[in-house]
This record gives sequence, C-alpha cells and structure tokens, in this order.
Amino acid sequence: MAITHNLGFPRIGAKRELKFAAESYWKGQSSLAALTSVGAELRARHWQDQAGLDLVPVGDFSFYDQMLDMSVTLGNLPERVRGFGGDALDNYFRVARGRSAAAADEQAGCAGVWAGEMTKWFDTNYHYIVPEFTAVTTFSLDASRLLTQLTEAKARGVAAKPVIIGPVTYLALGKSKDESDRLDLLERLLPVYAELLQVLAAEGVDWVQIDEPILVTELDVRWRHAFEVAYHSLKGTPVKLLLATYFGELQDQRYLVANLPVAGVHIDAVRGRDDVVPLLNLLPSTKVLSLGIIDGRNIWKTDLNGVLDWLEPIQEQLGERLWIAPSCSLLHVPVDLDSEDRLDAEVWSWLAFAKQKLSELRVLATALNDGRQAVQAELEANRAACEGRRRSPRVNNPAVKAAVARIDSRMGQRQSPYAERAAKQAELLALPKFPTTTIGSFPQTREIRQARADFKAGRLDAEGYQATMKAEIARCVREQELIGLDVLVHGEAERNDMVEYFGEQLEGYAFSRYGWVQSYGSRCVKPPILFGDISRPKPMTVGWITYAQSLTDKPMKGMLTAPVTMLNWSFVRDDQPRSDTCRQLALAIRAEVVDLERAGVKVIQIDEPAFREGLPLRKSQWQAYLDWAVECFRIAANGVADETQIHTHMCYSEFNDIIGSIADLDADAITIETARSDMELLDAFDDFRYPNDIGPGVYDIHSPNIPAEARMVALMRKAAERIPAERLWVNPDCGLKTRQWEEVIPSLTSMVAAAKTLRTTL
Ligand code: GLN
Ligand code: ZN
Repeated sequence: MAITHNLGFPRIGAKRELKFAAESYWKGQSSLAALTSVGAELRARHWQDQAGLDLVPVGDFSFYDQMLDMSVTLGNLPERVRGFGGDALDNYFRVARGRSAAAADEQAGCAGVWAGEMTKWFDTNYHYIVPEFTAVTTFSLDASRLLTQLTEAKARGVAAKPVIIGPVTYLALGKSKDESDRLDLLERLLPVYAELLQVLAAEGVDWVQIDEPILVTELDVRWRHAFEVAYHSLKGTPVKLLLATYFGELQDQRYLVANLPVAGVHIDAVRGRDDVVPLLNLLPSTKVLSLGIIDGRNIWKTDLNGVLDWLEPIQEQLGERLWIAPSCSLLHVPVDLDSEDRLDAEVWSWLAFAKQKLSELRVLATALNDGRQAVQAELEANRAACEGRRRSPRVNNPAVKAAVARIDSRMGQRQSPYAERAAKQAELLALPKFPTTTIGSFPQTREIRQARADFKAGRLDAEGYQATMKAEIARCVREQELIGLDVLVHGEAERNDMVEYFGEQLEGYAFSRYGWVQSYGSRCVKPPILFGDISRPKPMTVGWITYAQSLTDKPMKGMLTAPVTMLNWSFVRDDQPRSDTCRQLALAIRAEVVDLERAGVKVIQIDEPAFREGLPLRKSQWQAYLDWAVECFRIAANGVADETQIHTHMCYSEFNDIIGSIADLDADAITIETARSDMELLDAFDDFRYPNDIGPGVYDIHSPNIPAEARMVALMRKAAERIPAERLWVNPDCGLKTRQWEEVIPSLTSMVAAAKTLRTTL
C-alpha cells in the first residue's frame, strides 16, 4: 500500500479570507476573537479538502509565517518584544510587522518596535521572517500553537502529522545579530526540539514531518556535521521522523540524508528526480521513502500515466515503504481551480491547483494500490488533457519557434560600445550634469483604480477609460514639468501590475481570478499563467508614450517590463526550458522597443526587478542562469540605434556577486535602490566592473517621509566618491505608485533642488 500525505496546504484561503481577517484586525476594525475564529474555520476547511489522504499536515497553518511560528515555538522572539504584556498573537504581529512609536505608546512608556527582517524562502516568491540570534540566545518550548491545532485536528478525526521546521534549517536561515556563530547554538536548541517531540508523542502522534530544505543547497562540512549531531541527538524520541527536503536535488548530500537516523525521508521527485535511483540504493531497508511526485511549485496537471510508468517499478522495489505526496508544501500554488469560472476552457483543462493536485495524488495511490483499471476513467481523462495541451495550437506557434531559432549573436549587440553611444546620446538629449528622473510609476489614485474597475466591469466604455487615463497622464507630465525633472515618465496610470499589463496584451498568457499565492503575511500575488508560445499581436505601450511625449519638450521615457522579470513573476510552462520561454518574451519586448524608437521615443527603460530572483539555489548553477538571463535582456534591449538611451531598473543593490552580469546587460543607465544602505552597496560598481551610468536611489519610496535635500546631497556626494559624477543620475529608489501626490510633489521638488546643489558644488 502506497501511503499518501501532504506537506502543507495554502493557508490564506481560497478567497483570501485570512488576508482580509488579519488586515481588518490590524486596522482595529475587528476583534482578536474574530481573527482566531477565521483561522480555526480555515484549518477545518482545509483538513476537509485533504480528506482521504493517509496523513494530513497539522501546524502548517500560520497567521503570518511558518518561520516566525517556529521562533515562537522555540521561545526565540527578539529581545525588543520581550516583556510585552498583551496577547501573544499581538506580540507575534509586532515581530512580523513592527510597530511605530505612536504618541499613545510613547505616553505608555512603550517605544516603537522594528519588524523582523524578511527574506525570500529559497527560490519561491514567499518571504519569511528571519530568526534572530546572538551569542546569548536561549530557547524554551512553547508548544501551545501546535497543541491547539492538534486538538482541533483530533476532534475532527484528522490523521494528523505535525509539521515543523527542522533545527538545522532553522539555524541556517536565521541571522546572527552580533557576529557570533549561530551553529554554536545547536547544542542549546536540540533539547527544545527533543522536548517538543516528547510532547507530541504524549498526544499520540505517530509521525512528525521535520522540514530541512536547506539540504538542497550547498552545505559546507560544518553544516553537514550539524545534521549528524542534530538527528543523532533526536534519535531516541518516541515519534517517527519524516525528514522532508524540497525545491531541488540533494546531489552530494544523498548519502548524508539516506543515513541520518530518521524513520523516513521525503524528497522532491519533480526537481530532484535524479536523486531517486541513487537514494533507492542508499536508503537502509527500514526507512520510508516519500516521493514528491506532484509539482507543488506549478499549476499544471500532472501526467499521471507517465508518473505511473515510472513509479510502478519503484513500488515493486519499496512496497510498504513507498509514500507519495506533492513535491513541497502547496503553499506556493492557489487553492481551487473550480472557482475559475472565467478562465479559457481549454487552458482550464490543463491546470491543477492545490485541491486538484490532491485529487491527482488520490488517483495515483488508487492506481498503485488497486491497479490502474480501478481509476481507468480518471487516467484516460488525464491522458486526454495532457495530450490536448501538448498538441494545442494555442501552445505551439511555429512562427514564434522559428523566430527563436533565428536568434543570432548580433541581436544582442548594440551598434557601438557604451562610450560612443554615450557621446551621441549626450548630444541628442542635452541633459544637465546629475540628470533627474523617476522610476516610472506615479500615484495610483482612487480615481485611476475606480476607472479601471469600471472599465473591466463594463460600466465605463473604452473611450471613457482612455480619456480618464489620458487626463491622468497629462496631469503627471504637468506636475513633472513644474517640479523641474529632466527625463519625464508618463506615470503608468494605465497599468494594474507591471507583468499583468504586458501579459494581457501578449498571446500565450492567461489570467486567473482567484489564483492568489501568499507572498508574505497578508500579501498575495496572482501570477499570470504563461501557457504557450509568446507573441505580440500589436504595440502595447506606444500610444500612451507618444501621447505623453506630445505634451512636453523634455525627453519622455518609454517604460517596459523586461523578459526575465516577466518570466520570474509568472507561472511558466513546464514543457520547455525556462530559457526558451524567456527568449520568446525577449523577442516580444524587443519588438516593442523597436516600435517605441520608431515612434520617436529617445529613452526607453526596461525594468528587471526580478532578475536576481531567478538565481538557482546552488551557486554552481548560477552562471548558466545568468548567461541566458543576460542574453534575453540584451535581445530585448539592443535592437536600437546608438542614439537611443536604454535604462534598466532593479529594486535592490546587492550586486557584488553578480556585478559582471549586471555590467553585461550593457544598459546605458541603471537605476537601483540604495537610499537605505547609505550608498555603501555602490562599492560593487567600481569603474572597472561597471562602466555605464548609474542612478543610485536617493530616497526610500516605502516611507511617507519627505526626504531632506541635505540628506540627498550627502548621499550623492558619497556616491560620487565611488562613481565619477558624469555618470551619476539622481532618482528615487523605486516607482511611486503606492505614494500620494501630496508626498510625491514635495519629495521630488526636494530631490531636484538637491541635484541643482550638486551641479554647482561638485
Ligand atoms: N517602472 C516600475 C514602477 O515604477 C518599476 C517597478 C519595480 O521596480 N518593481 O513602478
Ligand atoms: Zn523598483
């Protein structure tokens, strides 16, 4: 009998119930009791959705983040929130979200609390709260969250398998605040894990899933050793441990994993398929092997017949020791395809969200346990769907494939090197020293959002919508002229989202209504679905940009999203390499760039904020990614004459380890985020490594504060110590769409004043 289980279920709710409940509570519009009861309802519903599996995760639900939950369980909240007398959940949210020192707090003698740092969860778009450590960190067990959820699960007859983050991953993903070595804490940490496992055993728990995804990354000998120490020390606890890894291959850590003293191992058999056969040989014959055969990172139907062809011989070999599951927690996919009532029927038939993935798992288990004929109808239907997708003309566009095949190295080349282009552009654009610009978006006002909603709902016709957007663009241009900026933008009023806006106009993209995936806390994203060969039926931005240009004599910057970002922020097809899909996107963007140039646009910015996000988990695979990512940007950008100035933008400035590739993009100018780092991160951009123009952000757009001119001048002086003044631009950190006009106008006015001061004093 193959055992079925799940590693985790999305907790935000099919209609984002948890988001709305949490945000309403944070705004003081509803009670804590209301929020906790929404939590309990969601857990109950999600267990129901997982009914029929042999083991169901418990403890995967979280009000904010599973790492922060683990910090609470281990008694490791930062010092700054200790001694808080209020409700534990409130204190938890203080770490998650921070708290400014409001007047009332000051009076109560309670200062502000800054939020815990947030960072990307492996190569997903989920972000966790980073555990904080110091040399004197101690741990103590608080099992209350797990016990509450376990009690609820038992009352509902759920075959509960508690899920926790393992000790080595917990330490590895945290940060030391005092330069101490966090591995030194392992010895202090392990007794708390042992105690937790005892407590769970006392509740009658049989299996515990202990997640150690850090095992798919490169580990040095000390961290490998930590695994030995940790799992030998937990060996005696009276529960069975299923050590779970996911998101990649174990590679040279296979032997380590196979031989840790645990009762079972789960691996990602989608991304780590190559681990399976070696592991079958390495794994002692007493251990369970759980194979994650359903892709938890994507939204395509599994080819069930194909999986069975591969899995049946493995089952022969493993017998009772084979478990099957999704590859990772289903946190990274939307909940329910059945609510997608507006999705194109053909595309719909190719997809599976969390609930559908679990149905696939049940079909596979039945086929393995009772023979394929027991689920013949399901297998036939699945075969037809997979076949339909493979053959569909919606997926395969021979003209696009042919265009990709014709890509040659010249397409990635500008006509002349940067220095020659820069001279021609300087003559044409006649910009002052320290030219000022913005990153693209201006405030998305209530009127803009209302007009978009009305247009989508059919309450406003296309003409009315166009007129409203044009009025917004005109306002935006007028304000920028008054402020005195040098290179203007149209403000992106017509864009809902920088990927969706382009995806909606490209062939090969589809959009869900409820396909939300948690990004962090209550924030969700709805990645577009890139299902087929990508083509651009007609220009996407030219009309708006030329309209904006017609209103001013200053250069108007055309604004596009670059191919790698389109790719990294979408659910992409799994039937061809990501690099091929990216090249198709690159050709579509290139066509737009060329059309903009032809329409007289002299400066074109191609945003690549998600460039870094696509880096593989293992450094050894970075270069291959960087090579095609750079190639794609260059294909998109380099179809223009020397006189056309290409900008790019990235929302961060950690470039040290990839600066060579950033330079290889060869954009004439790059704008980056630096205000919060005091320009130190510019050290990566020395002349040797980065010869083109740079606009280091001079103020943080995440804050409503109006930046002081003197502060921006000081920051630019620091920048000028690192980069020659002739190559520096003055701009904010990022787009302004989340700000109000009342903040934007004085902030940019102050920024322009700073640039003027710099021109006369530097
Ligand atoms: N041009 C976009 C904007 O200004 C860039 C957004 C981003 O970097 N994420 O909004
Ligand atoms: Zn940005």
